[in-house]
Amino acid sequence: MTIACPDCGTLEEIPRLLRRDTAVCIRCRSDLEKTNGRSIGAALACSLATLLLLVPVNVLPLLRVDIFGMHSQNITGAGVAQLWGRGWVWLAGLSALFVIVLPFLRFGLLSAVLAALRFNRRPSWLGAVFRWSLWLDPWAMLDVYLVAGCVGYFRLIHIDQAHITIELGGACFIAAALLTMLSRATLDPRAVWRAIGGETRAKRGEPMLGCTTCDLVQPLSCEGRRCPRCRARLRTRKLDAAAWTAALLIAALLLIFPANLYPMNISNHLGQQARYTIMTGVDDLFQAGLYPLGVLIFCTSILTPAAKILALGWCVLSVWRGSRRHLVVKTKVLRFIAEMGRWSKTDPFAIVFFVPLVHFGAFGSEDAGWGATAFMMMSFLTMVASVTFDPRLMWDVAGATAG
Ligand SMILES: [Zn+2]
Ligand SMILES: [Zn+2]
Repeated sequence: MTIACPDCGTLEEIPRLLRRDTAVCIRCRSDLEKTNGRSIGAALACSLATLLLLVPVNVLPLLRVDIFGMHSQNITGAGVAQLWGRGWVWLAGLSALFVIVLPFLRFGLLSAVLAALRFNRRPSWLGAVFRWSLWLDPWAMLDVYLVAGCVGYFRLIHIDQAHITIELGGACFIAAALLTMLSRATLDPRAVWRAIGGETRAKRGEPMLGCTTCDLVQPLSCEGRRCPRCRARLRTRKLDAAAWTAALLIAALLLIFPANLYPMNISNHLGQQARYTIMTGVDDLFQAGLYPLGVLIFCTSILTPAAKILALGWCVLSVWRGSRRHLVVKTKVLRFIAEMGRWSKTDPFAIVFFVPLVHFGAFGSEDAGWGATAFMMMSFLTMVASVTFDPRLMWDVAGATAG
């Protein structure tokens, strides 16, 4: 199978791999295809099971808190609606999208594609639907929400006299989030594209281009038409990628200030109000002896966004300046950043999870702050920036100057 490497654009021939094999790009050293632990059947089982579990996860209570003879429960949809009702429209809207809507879409589409392949059907919509399910993969964040739920849970068991029970919805939620990770681990997109078919052998000497979505190699004369396999428009490179990424990074950089200066959450306890920014929140977790949580929130909320902006900025500069240095390292950093970026939503999700659980009138209540909205937007923009960037541009410049 001939493909164009998604990271550096080099045309390469991948032979049929045996078990436990990995195909690596000769130029940028990225993994192109892996067979170890990957199987379409296993991915279909995980994907279908997740899809079915999403129903109880969204309609049943996840946690129940009993304190001072009062009780409260946490239902995902109701929690989001409550935040919306209090005026946190962006925080609630984006959370509902990532935690409720997109997981349903992602696993619905993925299950349809894998089931069709399993039963040897090749309907014409297969490629386009698989493209959408891949595109949705980083945005369906049930696993991130699980980590956020753990943060909320440990904060609650820390409160004196509170009795916490994990309800049936909570058990389904843990199972669904673990299956989300397992479905990602068992799925090799290249194997699915191979099964969907439509490969062509590159002719010698003819200028070719690789589809920026499914890496199918097509003659350069097809540019601007639809890819015969995934139906995306064929482009040699993503349009104005470096400029878009730079613009998104600048917007994210501006949002870092309100995200860190304004409170993420405001807690009222027996008439006393405490405002927590990201940093004072981390400090509070350390003071309470919750060191692993403090480290987790510090890494996901402070280190990850900063590292992301710096790394993407470095790569955009590399394109603009035509730098040929450290290209393999930059490509590896980009891949790592694309993987890690989603976890920076842990802190705002923890607020979405925690706030509906703590509303006991004068005894204690929690509310979100402006910092949470700013942080959510910033983290959203850096994720979009990493999706819009095209690493091939760095390699193009290097190729051109290398003559
Ligand atoms: Zn490569
Ligand atoms: Zn394609």
